[in-house]
Amino acid sequence: MARYLIVGGVAGGMSAATRLRRLDESAKIIVFERGGYVSYANCGLPYYIGDAITERDRLLVQTPESFKKLFNLEVRTGNEVIAVYPDKKSLRVKDMESGREYDESYDKLLLSPGGSPVKPQIPGSDHPAIHTLWTIPDSDRIRAMVDEGKVKTALVVGAGFIGLEMAENLHARGISVVVVEMAKQAMNVIDFEIAAMVHRELKMKKVGLYLEDGVSKFEKGANDRVVAHLNSGKTVAADLVLLSIGVRPNTGFLTDSGIELGARGHIDVDEYLKTSNEHIYAAGDVIEVVNPFTKKKTAVPLAGPANKQGRIAADNMNGKKLRTYNGTIGTGIAKVFDLAVGMTGATEKFCAAEKIPYHSVIIHPNDYAGYYPGAMKMCLKLVFSPDTRRVLGAQATGYSGVDKRMDVIATAIKGNMTVDDLAEIEHAYAPPYSSAKDPINMAGFAAQNILDGLVKSTSWEYVHKADKSLLFLLDVRTPAEYATGTMPGAVNIPLDNLRERIGEIPKNKTVIIFCRVGLIAYNAARILEAYGITDYFNLSGGYETYQIATAMQDTDGETYSKQTNEGVDIVMTEVKVENSKIVDVNACGLQCPGPVMRLKQEMDNIAAGEAISITASDAGFYSDAASWARSTGNIVRDISIAKGIVKAVIEKGGTAPSPIATAGNDKTIVVFSGDLDKAIASFIIANGALAMGRKVTMFFTFWGLNVLRKPEKMNGLGKNFIEAAFGWMMPRGSKKLSLSKMNMGGLGGMMIRGIMKNKNVPALEEMITAAINGGANIVACQMSLDLMGIRLEELVDGVQIGGVASYLEASEHSDNNLFI
Ligand code: FAD
Repeated sequence: MARYLIVGGVAGGMSAATRLRRLDESAKIIVFERGGYVSYANCGLPYYIGDAITERDRLLVQTPESFKKLFNLEVRTGNEVIAVYPDKKSLRVKDMESGREYDESYDKLLLSPGGSPVKPQIPGSDHPAIHTLWTIPDSDRIRAMVDEGKVKTALVVGAGFIGLEMAENLHARGISVVVVEMAKQAMNVIDFEIAAMVHRELKMKKVGLYLEDGVSKFEKGANDRVVAHLNSGKTVAADLVLLSIGVRPNTGFLTDSGIELGARGHIDVDEYLKTSNEHIYAAGDVIEVVNPFTKKKTAVPLAGPANKQGRIAADNMNGKKLRTYNGTIGTGIAKVFDLAVGMTGATEKFCAAEKIPYHSVIIHPNDYAGYYPGAMKMCLKLVFSPDTRRVLGAQATGYSGVDKRMDVIATAIKGNMTVDDLAEIEHAYAPPYSSAKDPINMAGFAAQNILDGLVKSTSWEYVHKADKSLLFLLDVRTPAEYATGTMPGAVNIPLDNLRERIGEIPKNKTVIIFCRVGLIAYNAARILEAYGITDYFNLSGGYETYQIATAMQDTDGETYSKQTNEGVDIVMTEVKVENSKIVDVNACGLQCPGPVMRLKQEMDNIAAGEAISITASDAGFYSDAASWARSTGNIVRDISIAKGIVKAVIEKGGTAPSPIATAGNDKTIVVFSGDLDKAIASFIIANGALAMGRKVTMFFTFWGLNVLRKPEKMNGLGKNFIEAAFGWMMPRGSKKLSLSKMNMGGLGGMMIRGIMKNKNVPALEEMITAAINGGANIVACQMSLDLMGIRLEELVDGVQIGGVASYLEASEHSDNNLFI
């Protein structure tokens, strides 16, 4: 009868034990576990503290009794293995309760003792409010403090997986949380710009974040609090501190065993998970695994690999069917508040450090068909080899669908697939689940385009660090998108106008083409190539990635509260620990200016620092919200538009900006009339002002919208009978307009046009084109469009939708405001 002993009764240990039983019914199998629980869900502990998992028993997947009953395993909890004697093939065990020590012999031994959280030698870290989270008793202690209502503020030291999961779960219990991280980013296993999205999520949830900072000492504060002194000189007072700064392998008991350990104390194993001793195997967090890209040894403490290694080790200990473990690529995912953050394989920084040739691309696709309700944007970064075209790694953030994409790409990496394979991955598609071209296909296409020389791409970091005088920053988004913010010095030439305005692109500078996410810019890049402009780069991930990665990453500097430390005032700087209220407002269905009015109304009811999260189905609100916030001294935290629903999160600013003392010299014209002569007058003024170098905004409302209509009839716009009839009765475009006086059944209009031609005055249509090309901001009033049943598609290109706030903001900078 074979005798198997196993050290450690959780992921690796219990997987091996149950597998061994399935392989050998007669074997003697004993598991030693120093803690009081076996096979518990340590990954679920943060969620138990956060009360997402409400029943503690749900964490206890099995018990020693159930293992005995189901698998005839002898599980000895409270028994710590304190030494291994390979020569004698035996162990020394200590019964933790009685203190008795005894030996047990084995034929084969599995070591799966995992790791323990690192407890740094920081002065004062013996304070009872300072915790680590690894075991059930750890979670009991933390949860008890939270349940008692003692914890109002918490400090999490370390922004890795567990630290961030705890930040979320403590926050979910109504606790104000501050996270301090030594590195310049959270989740050091991902690339910076992906981590930047994590930072943004934390900031949006009002979690304080200090990067590139650490705790130098802890002190006792008033009311059992801990006061953490940071390297930067800041102090943070908290009712609870969680240290989450890493894990070290539990190999102390192997010191005199002769079993070989790696540089950082992990057990060295071969591909059969055998240690340097032929009768001893090891699995889980305690071992060093091979990194398949470098073939170097590394440690990847994750539950998936631990479980699978336990099974493989059991097979090899049993010996009937040998299996190899082929390395760990580090596939993982974490939930950081609403954001899923996934990763697999090599990151860009890993490739750079290991000198592995790589290329990368960032895309921001929808998780499923954009037209199906609820589609959400994700960010997906693909790292691939320029030589072999092999997929090296991927990272993604998003609100849904991240896990699926990471899993598929992880499979592709393990299968040595190329970007061409990704482009052809055949996926399950229906609108609620994906798009006909899944984000994975899109990432494959983008990588193919780069490798095939169809487009040259560069990173946000290159642009950020480059000497801007050598670059021409070309923003090819629509004027409306451009107005929401762009890179300093960027020139807006919308894709629609790029061919006509190609001459504006300088030949002596490197052109950085960008749009919001990189796709429109790719089309622009193709146009540039066609016109012989080859010194360009498409900005990977577009303005969105650039903006997030170059924003201030940690919590902005402000004093958030004052705490007393035994009579001494301690000023907390730079972090807001209070959970700022965010009021949800649904303005869907309201027409302009309804959403802005609603925003204003709700904003009046909240305090500075609190925010309104407002959704509106009025597309014009996209620009209105930002304009309104800018001109009223409020702060735009986020604005997005998905499937026609605009979502804006606007924070109430402290004070309204002082009114503009003197207006600028911009010109604003409200074109209300649809009369030919009045339209001509408007565009003459507009083009004249443009020629003088003035910024012009023309706001077309009611009958004025007819000036902008395209001449051709458009079907399939989903109009109802009244809208269609209204559209039919109104003039379709500038050529159908009548004179306000002496129209004479259209004869007057023809005469005017003839006179203009003879006198070399450009026709109205030419004036409209000139104004658009000259940079006039041509805004169609959303409300009038809706009232008159006119669709944006029916208007000439270059028109953006806006509301009254966009117009009013423009008029504040204007010294000439006409109503025609
Ligand atoms: P462990 O699960 O740590 O088990 C080792 C056991 O050995 C311990 O119970 C220990 O008490 C016992 N032991 C140690 N020394 C001795 C000894 N000398 N004698 C007897 N017994 C001993 N991973 C993921 O992939 N996804 C996640 O979401 C995730 N979340 C996590 C959340 C938390 C809070 C924690 C703590 C971990 C999380 N992990 C996660 C990591 C994952 O739990 C580990 O990678 C996995 O449990 C490792 O399994 P293991 O068997 O190697 O070690």
